[in-house]
Amino acid sequence: MTEYNKPLPVIQELARPFWDAAKEGKLLVQCCNSCNASIFFPRDRCPECWSQDLGWIEASGNGEVYAFSVTYEGVEKPFVEDLPIVLAWIDLPEGIRMQTNIVDCDPESVEIGMPVEVTFRKATEDICLPYFKPVSA
Ligand SMILES: [Zn+2]
Repeated sequence: MTEYNKPLPVIQELARPFWDAAKEGKLLVQCCNSCNASIFFPRDRCPECWSQDLGWIEASGNGEVYAFSVTYEGVEKPFVEDLPIVLAWIDLPEGIRMQTNIVDCDPESVEIGMPVEVTFRKATEDICLPYFKPVSA
């Protein structure tokens, strides 16, 4: 495995459960124990009701493409090997929208509304990054 040479998230303690779960191939969504709001990205208080009584639920891992764009050139050097890159917003049934890349498919096949599922790629010993790929037929 070649060394990961792209930017990595700086893991804040409040988001530690998200990243620990990602290492186990699980996608967590932060939720508010007071008003049941789903929260993304992780925060220290609920953006709906300001409660600090927050928890986590395990997402189904399913989603649907809300919007996307495909980049064919003009990226920083570490990303050149990934071209073309599909940047997308994914709506999760848990009620959040995540920005991510769609991988493991022909970028020409990506469509709005396409069902996708989460997949994780190990970046370092401590960080597995969530991506999405088309649901296998
Ligand atoms: Zn709340």
